[in-house]
Amino acid sequence: MDYDRIFNFSAGPSMLPTSALESARDNLLNYNGSGMSVMEMSHRSSVFDEIFQSTKAKLRKALNVPESYAILFLQGGASSQFSMVPMNLIGKTGKADYAVTGNFANIAYREAQKYGTIHLAASTAEANHSYIPTQEQLDLDPEASYFYYCANNTIYGTEWNYIPQTGNVPLVCDMSSDILSRPIDVSKYGIIFAGAQKNMAPAGLTVVLMRKDLAGQELPITPLMMNYQTMIDKDSMYNTPPCWCIYMLGLVLDWLESQGGVAGMEQLKRKKAQLLYDVIDNSRLFTAAAQPGSRSDMNVTFRSISAELDAKFVKEATAAGMSNLKGHRLVGGMRASIYNAMPMEGVEKLAAFIEAFDKVN
Ligand SMILES: *Cc1c(COP(=O)(O)O)cnc(C)c1O
Repeated sequence: MDYDRIFNFSAGPSMLPTSALESARDNLLNYNGSGMSVMEMSHRSSVFDEIFQSTKAKLRKALNVPESYAILFLQGGASSQFSMVPMNLIGKTGKADYAVTGNFANIAYREAQKYGTIHLAASTAEANHSYIPTQEQLDLDPEASYFYYCANNTIYGTEWNYIPQTGNVPLVCDMSSDILSRPIDVSKYGIIFAGAQKNMAPAGLTVVLMRKDLAGQELPITPLMMNYQTMIDKDSMYNTPPCWCIYMLGLVLDWLESQGGVAGMEQLKRKKAQLLYDVIDNSRLFTAAAQPGSRSDMNVTFRSISAELDAKFVKEATAAGMSNLKGHRLVGGMRASIYNAMPMEGVEKLAAFIEAFDKVN
């Protein structure tokens, strides 16, 4: 069944796999014979505990998360991590390194300044964040408590294609918009965090993968709810966790596994992105916003020769069943967000639309 669904290129919240939505629908009023909806369950009940623990186990398996890492299911969005990270980690030396490669990294950078001495290890602002700095361009402080970067810049459409080498300085990475799109070596990181609404689940869940030994050094002012150690000790259940979103994440991870896991996603995302970049590069009217070598496989940013033509493109694409293609105001033009749940079919339809638009206009 296709339910008359359109191809939704939204940057987030974004498309979810149909099978996950169908499973949620089928169990909406009575989950697995429990007589109630997951939305109505006590988070301390054995039925929910099974959902919680199995979702955690599925995520651990999908990303091959070592046992020395905690998996936390928090709230507050990725943005809450912009404060939580410095509060919990900066106490070590009072200093941290930040690479500012986009809007969210910049917000994190400014927020961290409340808690310590923040050093700009790299900034791509001078080129409107159209590229990712190389390892050689990173100005690293060996005494930093951590090095912070954003793996995929959702607004600008750039993505790091390497893991920064920082010696003994732990890496903290915002993976909100590319987590689960490829295999990652979690052991190279101190903390990985992600808001769920791009590639994992509905909005309301924030996933944190954290080397457990980094917890417990929080600043004394750290609010109880923003203390990683509290959440590790209580297995993310100091208070009521976002139960429904955790359940949905489990269903999305079932779908992911059926598609070959993160390795399967990596193959598919390369094909999807390449198809779009190729038609853009071969067109007369369109140019990609991000520089080759830094281009994101998740958010394809591009523009035509004028703002008027951009508006026409977005309007006609919407009428053709492809929504949310308008670019973020910081970049203008268009942005096609093609996360895991966007089928190849949707990308093929958009590529054909770009080609036809290029011919006619
Ligand atoms: C969407 C996004 C955020 C903000 O996420 P919230 O959950 O809305 O706070 C932060 N970082 C990146 C990379 C994002 O894509």
